[in-house]
Amino acid sequence: MGSEVAGCGDWSGYEMREMAKKIEKTDDEWKHELTPEKYRVLRKKGTELPFSGKLLGNKKEGVYVCAGCGNELFASDTKYDSGSGWPSFYAPLADDRVEKKDERSMFTVRTEVLCEKCGGHLGHVFEDGPDPTGLRYCVNSASLEFEEKVDRHGAEKKDGKSN
Ligand code: FE
Repeated sequence: MGSEVAGCGDWSGYEMREMAKKIEKTDDEWKHELTPEKYRVLRKKGTELPFSGKLLGNKKEGVYVCAGCGNELFASDTKYDSGSGWPSFYAPLADDRVEKKDERSMFTVRTEVLCEKCGGHLGHVFEDGPDPTGLRYCVNSASLEFEEKVDRHGAEKKDGKSN
C-alpha cells in the first residue's frame, strides 16, 4: 500500500513533462537566444573541437541540462573520461530525456542524440561505453550547461525549520 505514494510521484512528474513537452522556436529566435557556438552546435548539428569544451574536465556533482531549453539530461555520476575529447556519459538521466536518430553519411551510420524537448543536437551515442550500459553518449560541451548540486540542508537550516 505504501508504495502507491511513490507511484503517484512518478506519474505526476511524467505528466508535467508531457505538458511541458516540445519547445518550438523559429531559426531566428534560436539565433538570437543562443551564442554563435551554441547555435552552430545545437541547431546546425555542429561539433566542437575535441578537448576544447568547457565541461570536458568537470568532475563536480550536479546535473547537465540542455543549453537550449534547460531540460535535465545527464547526471554527474554517469560522466566518465572516455579519452575522446568530448564529455562522455554512459546513460541519460532518463531514456525519455533524449531522442535518438540514425544519421547516414556516405560510409557510416551513426546515432545522433538530440534533446527530446527542443530537438537540439547534443552529439552521438556509440556502443563502446563502460558498464552498466555499454553506451557512450558523446556530447558537446556547447550543448550543455552544468548545474552544480546545492546543499539543500544548509539552505534549509537558515530558516530554522529543518529537522
Ligand atoms: Fe533542449
